[in-house]
Amino acid sequence: MITTINPYTGLELESYNEDSVKQIEDKLKIADVAFKEWRTTDFVLRSKLIKKVGVMLKSNSKVYARQMALEMGKPISQGISEVEKCAWLCDYYAEKAPGFLEQENFETDYHKSYVSYEPIGVVLAVMPWNYPFWQVMRFIVPALMAGNVGVLKHSSSVMGCAVMLQDLFQEAGFPAGCLTSLIIGSDPIEKIIKNPIIKAVTLTGSKPAGSAVASVAGSEIKKSVLELGGSNALVVFDDVDIDSAVDTCLSARFQNTGQSCIAGKRLLLQEGIAGVFLNKLTQKLTELKSGDPLSEDTYIGVMARADLAEGLEETMTKSLNMGAKLHIGGKRNQAYFEPTILTSVTSDMPVFKEETFGPLLSVTTFKTEEEAVDLVNQSDFGLGVSLFSQNIDRLEKLAPHFDDGAVFINEKVSSHPNLPFGGTGISGYGRELSRFGIREFVNIKTVVVN
Ligand code: NDP
Repeated sequence: MITTINPYTGLELESYNEDSVKQIEDKLKIADVAFKEWRTTDFVLRSKLIKKVGVMLKSNSKVYARQMALEMGKPISQGISEVEKCAWLCDYYAEKAPGFLEQENFETDYHKSYVSYEPIGVVLAVMPWNYPFWQVMRFIVPALMAGNVGVLKHSSSVMGCAVMLQDLFQEAGFPAGCLTSLIIGSDPIEKIIKNPIIKAVTLTGSKPAGSAVASVAGSEIKKSVLELGGSNALVVFDDVDIDSAVDTCLSARFQNTGQSCIAGKRLLLQEGIAGVFLNKLTQKLTELKSGDPLSEDTYIGVMARADLAEGLEETMTKSLNMGAKLHIGGKRNQAYFEPTILTSVTSDMPVFKEETFGPLLSVTTFKTEEEAVDLVNQSDFGLGVSLFSQNIDRLEKLAPHFDDGAVFINEKVSSHPNLPFGGTGISGYGRELSRFGIREFVNIKTVVVN
């Protein structure tokens, strides 16, 4: 059985019978059959059905947001925004995918030569709990538009969302097997990747999970895409527009109760504004309302699981023992972790080096631009960095110095359907979203006529 737990109440929500080996095999076979039919469909049908999914998401956004609130503690207003963003993604790919996958002609000595982007088959997605709808949608929507089908192994803590997602696609009119949710923990994953029906795998989650999945995929010569989180820096220079940057940094760190791969986890403040900036940020932080994820005015819910909150507490305590100072917050009660700021953080401390996946912000000061670049690049993660200054020319010149997959100027790093999303270093490889994302799982087929 897989039992889901409401992290706000600590009470059991529901128990799901785990799929047996036979049930898993049957589901994969159904997906394989579905692929053979789905690959022959045209873009008109694919776009129509994806648009339908978008409409259904919008009209049921509260229902889906409630499920997320119950299963992983996401404040309901943020859950509604997540579902609406998924609907936007549907409209985006319904319109753009045909162009992204259009046949491309190439100049050669042959009579004719071109590339066609063709589907590869059944793709496995191993997904996390932090954005239970968005993470899945940004995989499955481009996959289906490209003519692939998907098998989902969702995080054990959001099995209700996994079931809802499968139902959503079927109710929108997709044939059975286009999106299949497996009701399993992580143990059977190795065998599933090795099954010849699975052609590729994508994973969003922690480094150990990514490493385990990619190793098996590599041994089978199957493609993988990994999105493994980050420790993004928010770099604030002396000539910043303070009020606007304070608001952006606050939401960059604390939205989704801090549980986002692209959250700004390390605040780097230039010495001249550090005091003023921190005071304003702290004031705004005290105004964020913590509470029941189901209340519409809650901004800080609970973390997805009590063990994750405990882990964050340990990371904090180790850093305090190494000389960090508790500026505000720091208390934990089961899955609730008080919004917290640690100052005097140095690059050897766990809150700087590791991914702090919860409402904890580390603060480090710097003197020069060079020092800031060095601090940002000292992380093994490389998902993104945000830079804040009114001198945009200066920041654009600085952008190539960062090793990350994204540089956002005067803005928090966020995912956008039309922009490639992904990291460097231990943040993973490959890209999701935009035309780059849809081309990750296609056969770039060269056709020559002489
Ligand atoms: P995991 O990485 O363990 O889980 C993510 C997904 O991978 C889940 O579906 C999980 O299944 C599956 N999984 C875990 N281990 C394996 C494995 N060995 N083989 C195959 N699949 C596996 O994340 P956690 O939920 O344990 O969170 C731990 C930390 O991971 C967080 O604190 C955060 O630092 C990071 N994380 C990053 C995310 C991101 O957006 N990049 C999202 C979530 C977590 P199951 O749930 O059944 O274990």
